[in-house]
Amino acid sequence: MRKQAKVVIIGSGPAGYTAAVYAARANLEPLLFAGFHSGPAGGQLMTTTDVENYPGFPEGITGPKLMETFRKQAERFGTEVVMKDVSSVNLAHHPFKIMSGDTTVEAEALIIATGATAKLLPIPGAGEGELWQKGVSACAVCDGAMPIFRNKPLYVIGGGDSAVEEAIFLTKFGSRVYIVHRRDTLRASLIMGERAKHHPKVEILWNSVCTAVEGKEVVESVTIQNLVTKKEEKHPAGGLFFAIGHQPNTGFLGNQLELDDVGYLKVDKGTSHTNIPGVFAAGDVFDHRYRQAITAAGSGCMAALDAERWLAARGEAQARLPKEEMERDP
Ligand code: NAP
Repeated sequence: MRKQAKVVIIGSGPAGYTAAVYAARANLEPLLFAGFHSGPAGGQLMTTTDVENYPGFPEGITGPKLMETFRKQAERFGTEVVMKDVSSVNLAHHPFKIMSGDTTVEAEALIIATGATAKLLPIPGAGEGELWQKGVSACAVCDGAMPIFRNKPLYVIGGGDSAVEEAIFLTKFGSRVYIVHRRDTLRASLIMGERAKHHPKVEILWNSVCTAVEGKEVVESVTIQNLVTKKEEKHPAGGLFFAIGHQPNTGFLGNQLELDDVGYLKVDKGTSHTNIPGVFAAGDVFDHRYRQAITAAGSGCMAALDAERWLAARGEAQARLPKEEMERDP
């Protein structure tokens, strides 16, 4: 692994690899940390089965296959992909220092594309090796159109805007959609809440939690407990969706960059610039509104273009500096 790079990219989802394609094609020879223990290299799509809404694949493509194509394209133009986690960064001085275990890489520009992790609940039956991705999902928009959910009762856990939005989206496919919320009022905005309450195919199960999910090959039932009466009931179900929020992966930054009030990186509106010049953000680590592979890829492209322009402007300024200093200091 090199110890110096013009551009270091942290993250290997659609945002990171797209930034790498653009940076590599601009001869910036990016070095990309793909991660190892921090989550699957390739990001959230590695745990998604069929991706049917990524343009260019009319027959759909699996999440892991899509990420393999992203990686190959980034490598074809000279990206160095390192299968390691970044443990910390030092952004106080330029060049920035990127630490991975006991190795340090210096970067002139840094693109952070570490994504966000969907919060899950340890419900018996819902885990990896059980019914996870076999009717249990954390992304209705990604997975909702799969045939297993058609005309089945579907359950969404959560009471925020995501839960409501995902429940309404799922009404296109399921026979009925139940929002399972642990309290008696929604966290979702008023307008979204009203939409859910008045939707003919949505029912909100107040003060309720899901205590089990069962099925042989795919989800067949969920058990719902009412927290007030403590009564548990098993219901037929075709799917269970977690919509209890995401955790942006920003811990390794150690509060060196400005975050918004829900913990996402802050960028200048309409750009990828963070509050530190030369540090850019792409994908779900700053975007909690759209969170799609295609929007993440688009913002990865923006970050690479912003980095390229920033490096060029900096290079020109440095080239001017000695002359200006000479003029000032005869
Ligand atoms: P959120 O607002 O943090 O809501 C999370 C929901 O999950 C809450 O209702 C919470 O219950 C519930 N929850 C959390 N932990 C739980 C647990 N352990 N067990 C059961 N329930 C649990 O997250 P979000 O809905 O993903 O929204 C995140 C941000 O994106 C928000 O700012 C939201 O407005 C925004 N967003 C906007 C749109 C839109 O405008 N179209 C769409 C999606 C998201 P409590 O209410 O009891 O805490």
